[in-house]
Amino acid sequence: MLALDEQVALALVEQGSRLAPLDQAVLLAATLDGVSPAAAADMPLDRRDRLLIDARMAAFGPDIAFFARCPHCAEGNEADFDLGILPDAAPATGVAARIGAREILLRAPTSTAVARSIRTARPDMLIDDIAGADAQPDDPNWLAAMESALAGAFPLLDVRFEMTCSACEATFDTRFDIVPWLWREIEVMASRTIDTVDRLARAYGWTERDILSLSPTRRGFYLARLAS
Ligand SMILES: [Zn+2]
Repeated sequence: MLALDEQVALALVEQGSRLAPLDQAVLLAATLDGVSPAAAADMPLDRRDRLLIDARMAAFGPDIAFFARCPHCAEGNEADFDLGILPDAAPATGVAARIGAREILLRAPTSTAVARSIRTARPDMLIDDIAGADAQPDDPNWLAAMESALAGAFPLLDVRFEMTCSACEATFDTRFDIVPWLWREIEVMASRTIDTVDRLARAYGWTERDILSLSPTRRGFYLARLAS
């Protein structure tokens, strides 16, 4: 896996700042795993997200300070979570599940399948992609059973953190999506890098390449000298 450093962050933001979140996820997976965008788009979503979680932990550590509003009283709550406790991606790309009276092979959803369903504004296409000819998208019981089987087989598809409200003490769970979370952190990293290059280039006339070839510690020495 490619290390998520400043150069990588700059290149990602340069290529992906105007993309939709789903395309940003594919760009991240392709870049970090060193595969083509088409191969990254065909990764099962839980495997893609596991890759992004691993990259996040390697670059920024496992801890996240998660903010969510209480659904009962609207109080803002913050809690720390450890990404290290999240499960691995499922080894298989499909799972056999008993839905109703039948055993059905469910395929793990991919970015390609989600994109096709969004592009055509047809959620049933995603269900067809997952369940094939056995799909029954008009039957709510069948859909609930399919979602439950998918969540059991691919737990990273729907990561939830449980929080307790500091104001009303209600317990609620809230979804964690690694894609916007990691993208935001990469944007911050790229923005700080641009700030550093800008200050050192103005002060010393160095090029971006010169500045990025210095270690962050050494850049820090020059920035401290400028500020003194
Ligand atoms: Zn509350």
